[in-house]
Amino acid sequence: MSHHPAPHTLDVLNPATGEVIATVPAASAADVDAAVGRASAAQRTWAAAAPADRARLLRRFAAVVDEHVEELALLEVGEAGHTIGNARWEAGNVRDLLDYSAGGAERLLGRQIPVAGGIDFTILEPLGVVGVIVPWNFPMPIAAWALAPALAAGNAVLLKPAETTPLTALRLAELALAAGLPDGLFQVLPGEGPVAGSALVEHPGVAKIVFTGSTRTGKHIMSRCAERVKRLTLELGGKSPNIVFADADVEAAAGAAPMSFLDNAGQDCCARTRILVERSVHDRFLDLLAPALSAVVVGDPADERTQMGPLISAVQRERVRSFVAGDGNGPGVRTILGSAPDGPGFWYPPTVLAGVAPDAPVAVEEVFGPVAVVLPFDDEEDAVRLANATEYGLAGSVWTRDVGRALRVGQGLRAGNLSVNSHSSVRYSTPFGGYKQSGLGRELGPDAAVAFTETKNVFISTEA
Ligand code: NAD
Repeated sequence: MSHHPAPHTLDVLNPATGEVIATVPAASAADVDAAVGRASAAQRTWAAAAPADRARLLRRFAAVVDEHVEELALLEVGEAGHTIGNARWEAGNVRDLLDYSAGGAERLLGRQIPVAGGIDFTILEPLGVVGVIVPWNFPMPIAAWALAPALAAGNAVLLKPAETTPLTALRLAELALAAGLPDGLFQVLPGEGPVAGSALVEHPGVAKIVFTGSTRTGKHIMSRCAERVKRLTLELGGKSPNIVFADADVEAAAGAAPMSFLDNAGQDCCARTRILVERSVHDRFLDLLAPALSAVVVGDPADERTQMGPLISAVQRERVRSFVAGDGNGPGVRTILGSAPDGPGFWYPPTVLAGVAPDAPVAVEEVFGPVAVVLPFDDEEDAVRLANATEYGLAGSVWTRDVGRALRVGQGLRAGNLSVNSHSSVRYSTPFGGYKQSGLGRELGPDAAVAFTETKNVFISTEA
């Protein structure tokens, strides 16, 4: 940790204008320590409450979020530059997760296992206090993915939002209190990663960390958790393939490709940024892709018609620029550009590079911006080999009319979330997470709450 004192406040910028829209206090290690104390006390009461009462309070929390969807959405447009349509969906996703998870409080079922000489059963017990560290790209949903099942399973949650996007998290904590959740059970600790985030990771009173963010920080946190064998879920980076076979509806595949990597300005861990196209339709695909890319509406995120807003920060824009400048100037590279506004704000145009080397940094590393590469392949085997040739394994799409081929290719892909003739990845009712260096563990889906429990096995002798 550095010897510089932590800043006492964080400035929140509107990425569409570059202006400061709020300043919030930054949590210190001492603040984290005090929060863990309050959370532990609240958790004991919460875990002892009737499961039906916990479920009822989570449903009430969902109802209060529902009444504030528009307010939360506008906060996210302001601090993260999300389009208003996306931001409404994101606030609604928090509500839906709370509703879906509430039932978990009453459905965390242990098992009775046949053994000799007695009765054996398992109990799923809450872990205690869970630390949730989230990035800035989807501040609300990613927080809720851990928050809702962790609370349902009887835990307390301390949430550390990203430095740039604390506002919706802070508002959610107020709404939880308004809904009647016990004081201290869900607290938000805005602050710097190496200060507040690190204090959560190191604190002996925090039983589990759920981290979503870059693979680099995830590895560091994993090594720190090893010290105490602290429980850990990691949701890390991605570089996901979009595989288009010649037998697919190529028009549909080209039409769907732009938003599969431009949603949230490409700042999406599931973005399909490696477009792999069977060689015989490669040029036709590019010709269809170019007008589809130009048609994407990039601009003011508060405008209902906008499909893509700005990047989160000037730093992020520089990072994206350097990837494109590095690999986009080689001989034989064809660049297809969409449009973006000039002037203030962290704008970057939709960009597709064809003809780059398959192992160029822009083709294998996570850019986290509106940039994709198109690479040709020869057959199924080649497609799978190319698709797996990154250290990531989060998501992937296969476009084909041949069901057998879709299943064969799907079996070959080392990735946690696949879609066929579609780019959908995330539903609160289905499991989500990464293979390889994209993560560890799964969130969402019917088993989400189990990840916030320890299994205790009990044997009762019938012979005593
Ligand atoms: P990041 O790793 O820089 O930061 C993520 C969070 O970790 C922030 O809250 C940050 O303050 C905190 N942090 C930083 N250093 C820390 C430390 N030493 N100890 C504890 N906490 C620390 O990531 P980012 O740039 O904010 O987010 C972008 C990354 O997130 C991308 O790589 C993206 O793919 C990934 N992501 C993954 C998923 C997924 O579900 N797999 C979802 C969204 C984003």
